[in-house]
Amino acid sequence: MIVANNTQEVQFALLNNALRAVRVGMIVLDAQERIVLWNRWMEQHAFCTKQSVLGKSFVDLFPELTNSRTHQAIKAALQNNFASLVSQTLNKAPFPLFAGAQERQAGTRVQQAVQVMPIEPSPLLPLQKLCLIQITDVSMAVAREKQLRDLALELKAQVFADGLTGIPNRRRCNEHLEEEFRRAKRTASPLSLIMIDVDLFKDYNDNYGHQKGDECLILVAAALTRILRRPGDLVARYGGEEFIAILPNTDREGALALAERMRSEVESMAIERADSNGSRYVTISLGVITEIPTHNSAISHMIGGADHALYQAKHQGRNCIVVHGSKSAPVPTAA
Ligand code: GH3
Ligand code: MG
Ligand code: MG
Repeated sequence: MIVANNTQEVQFALLNNALRAVRVGMIVLDAQERIVLWNRWMEQHAFCTKQSVLGKSFVDLFPELTNSRTHQAIKAALQNNFASLVSQTLNKAPFPLFAGAQERQAGTRVQQAVQVMPIEPSPLLPLQKLCLIQITDVSMAVAREKQLRDLALELKAQVFADGLTGIPNRRRCNEHLEEEFRRAKRTASPLSLIMIDVDLFKDYNDNYGHQKGDECLILVAAALTRILRRPGDLVARYGGEEFIAILPNTDREGALALAERMRSEVESMAIERADSNGSRYVTISLGVITEIPTHNSAISHMIGGADHALYQAKHQGRNCIVVHGSKSAPVPTAA
């Protein structure tokens, strides 16, 4: 029985077997950075037998790792007795290690966590400075982490997207508006908002049914989104048949020009409406406001201003634009 016969040789044999069974890569280097131990996991993943690597210098075996972080960690362990966990942020797979022959052929390395530590001298190895490199396959953990990150991104996108039209929703709009409002205040730059409302949409629903109404909103949302060019611009569904455009760094003239393009883009889609109330096609009314926010400004004031301008546009006959604090733009001729 092993326990009863626990001599140094038995201990040695046990250690050897344990070293073969362990599911981490283990390399021991001597003071000259020569390989003195190479376990079975390393044989299997590096595709090099123990016999072929023992006595070889580390950098001869892994030339790509010369002066790498791993190599620096080896020097720190051998020269200064420092243990290190090699950061994975820069290189997730420093050693050419592969899960199998197929992966090796494809050049797909296992993702690695690498630790380097000095080995304390022992009676059998009194003067030797040695260091142990321990490599763990973290591919599964990394893959799981990526899955979770992707899922989180997807959920975030869902939380911020409008269920019907797919464009940003009111929550996203509020977040973006707060961000851009702060930036505009900090940089003293103009911020414009356009409040957009589909004209006489209740009648459209009454005539064509709610489903056709939904389809119309999807088309209008896409048309408004098409008009935007800059990365900071955002069109969101504000609620019902109302939309809002947030335009950072955009002055009154720029916002008015964009509003006019939105108006004409929707009109030119020529979505028929055969009721007697308004134009022949689906149209929108728009209220524009531009401000360079100061510490006295408030987002709610801007929204209120854009809303008021929109209200005026409705009163002026719809399918038109009113800029807050100025006379309305000419009402376009009906199609
Ligand atoms: P105005 O030109 O003054 O804006 O007239 P309007 O009829 O568009 O205004 P009102 O606010 O009275 O009606 C808005 C309509 O929008 C009523 C509502 O049924 C419809 N609506 C709001 N959300 C949705 C939606 O998600 N899908 C559909 N199909 N209709 C919606
Ligand atoms: Mg409305
Ligand atoms: Mg409306």
